[in-house]
Amino acid sequence: MSIQVLKPKFHTEECLEEIKECLDKGWTGMGFKTVEFENEWKKYTGHKYAYFINSNTVGLHLAVHILKMENNWQDGDEIISTPITFVSTNHAILYENLTVKFADVDEYLCLDPVDVEKKITDRTRAIIFVGYGGRVGKLDQIIEICKKYNLKLILDAAHMAGTKVNGITPGTWDGVDVTVYSYQAVKNLATGDSGMICFNDERNDKLARQMAWLGINKDTYARSNKGTYAWKYDVDYVGYKYNGNAIMAAIALVQLKYLDEENARRRSIVEMYNQAFKDNKNIKIISAPYADECSYHIYELIVPDREALLNKLAEHEIYGGVHYRDNTEYSMYRYANGTCPYAHEVSQKIITLPLHMWLTEADVQKIISVVNGFLQ
Ligand SMILES: *Cc1c(COP(=O)(O)O)cnc(C)c1O
Repeated sequence: MSIQVLKPKFHTEECLEEIKECLDKGWTGMGFKTVEFENEWKKYTGHKYAYFINSNTVGLHLAVHILKMENNWQDGDEIISTPITFVSTNHAILYENLTVKFADVDEYLCLDPVDVEKKITDRTRAIIFVGYGGRVGKLDQIIEICKKYNLKLILDAAHMAGTKVNGITPGTWDGVDVTVYSYQAVKNLATGDSGMICFNDERNDKLARQMAWLGINKDTYARSNKGTYAWKYDVDYVGYKYNGNAIMAAIALVQLKYLDEENARRRSIVEMYNQAFKDNKNIKIISAPYADECSYHIYELIVPDREALLNKLAEHEIYGGVHYRDNTEYSMYRYANGTCPYAHEVSQKIITLPLHMWLTEADVQKIISVVNGFLQ
């Protein structure tokens, strides 16, 4: 059997039970299970507000859109972001006619606070921090910078479902304005496609709900529970169709029950990898602060010749991957090429090893022996 780099595990029978409830009730859209899951997510994370949406990508867009609208940002204003991420993070800035100002990454592959501070100009309005691989990086220092320069802070927590620091969800830290999660098909809490946007204040949460529902000021679920004028609503904005649906929420409710257990398993695999690679001079491990509470969405190594290792692994039917290429290598972001030298360097050398619930101890040992055998 070949070994894939990422592979979600669904608790099929339980998911089908939850989905059946939606179908029997005749409620597959927004509301019902989406509300139930929002409440469970708030309980699990400690976020005060949570709104279930159809992806992290649209959540990042909503976050930037609402912060721009509420704070009177002008086209061309700047948001500082990382070049080592999935392009969603940076597209969210471009959707709003703002400029992506790239800052370099640190040893955790998260934004480096020292370089971030250098990239601030009088047009800087916000920072988007990606908790890369589930790591919290130096988010605490980024928060201090945001306070010092009066910047908004958006946390792209696509990798961070389940990450805690001393039992606290980092997205709930004072100073984070909005946190956006992904429940995309291969993320730690996998559905099909869905996500959550968690603003830290009620007004923005309300706006998010409205903007994600075409700008309509009452949702269908609320209206169906009112009297004769239940059909009446107003439209205050040109909003979007970004809401999540009950089928995805049904799957998410089941997946959430297993999240802690599965993240613990991820950590034990990471520990096996780290122990096996730590003395290999050709391999650089990427450590994590608060490693015992990290969600470890992906496991990467820095190696001298990534292509050769990917090929060697493939000979053994082990499929590694690459997350992610330096975004400034893409045409859309090439204007910033050369501005983040460390990101550029690691981007050529990082390889993602398999990390998921289907790996057996024997799989992990096999991967370790191929990697160590090849990189002696
Ligand atoms: C997966 C991912 C996204 C996008 O999430 P979707 O739910 O697929 O839209 C954004 N940022 C990062 C870092 C991701 O890994």
